[in-house]
Amino acid sequence: MQYNAIVKNIKDITPEIKLFFIEFKNGQKFNFKAGQFAVLALPDDKNDLDGLWHKRAYSITSSPSQDQVEFYIVLVKEGKLTPRLFSLKAGDEIFMGEKPAGLMNFDGVSDTDNLIFISTGTGIAPFVSIIREHKDEILNGKRQVALIHGARHTYELGFKGELEELEKKSPYFHYFPIVSRSEQELGVEWNGYKGHAQSLITNGVVEKKLGVSISPENFHVFLCGNPKMVDETVTIFMDKGFKRNTIKEKGNLYFDKH
Ligand SMILES: Cc1cc2nc3c(=O)[nH]c(=O)nc-3n(C[C@H](O)[C@H](O)[C@H](O)COP(=O)(O)OP(=O)(O)OC[C@H]3O[C@@H](n4cnc5c(N)ncnc54)[C@H](O)[C@@H]3O)c2cc1C
Repeated sequence: MQYNAIVKNIKDITPEIKLFFIEFKNGQKFNFKAGQFAVLALPDDKNDLDGLWHKRAYSITSSPSQDQVEFYIVLVKEGKLTPRLFSLKAGDEIFMGEKPAGLMNFDGVSDTDNLIFISTGTGIAPFVSIIREHKDEILNGKRQVALIHGARHTYELGFKGELEELEKKSPYFHYFPIVSRSEQELGVEWNGYKGHAQSLITNGVVEKKLGVSISPENFHVFLCGNPKMVDETVTIFMDKGFKRNTIKEKGNLYFDKH
């Protein structure tokens, strides 16, 4: 394995969440579909490039038309790769796999199907890519689109500004940031949604805001984030008659666990 890409820029969201902007060294464009993930890797010892490399999957947040490939990454302090990623600076080298993967894309979705994206933490990443790629269509309003993003605290709600802007511009796009821990303890005023991401489905808040009854006939649902949220939400939608989308069988429920 060898370095084939350069970190062009890094932006801090919090000390433990960063955006990484990466390009291939040879200038080659990365061909992927919005919603897919790529592999990033760094050597265990940067002075031993022939030794062990740590490889992990990361969802891409940029749209395929952007020049730099963007990733939204949270630090796992005891992890093998993320502490190494967090010590990088702009201009440093990295490995980025040339083959994207993942079924979290729009292939089976028609122009008029309504969409619900439900995420926690870094699980918002593939949805940001999809929303950026389909922004014109979202603004033109052929469908209703809801995006739920659950985090522990408001400061972890990455992309909030960009998504609120889009919501202001389009009556068809509905953004639901929701936090599970007390903001009051941090001295932050928060009059928004509180609790777990999936509660906004079970308590009818999303359905009411969209003004459309959620059914498998007119919705595709995408889930990404922590395994507990994904498992609980899969059950909620399967009970409503949704079917998992797989390579073999088309469905209307798509999910990935981070
Ligand atoms: C399809 C896919 C897409 C992904 N996309 C993203 C993404 O967009 N952004 C992102 O930050 N991560 C993403 N991940 C997770 C990522 O691949 C790594 O697992 C993560 O960055 C941890 O890597 P590490 O080498 O630092 O930790 P590891 O050395 O792999 O793990 C160390 C320990 O920490 C635990 N651990 C792993 N992740 C977490 C976590 N998030 N919180 C707490 N404990 C954890 C592990 O179970 C293990 O016990 C994705 C995973 C998959 C499968």
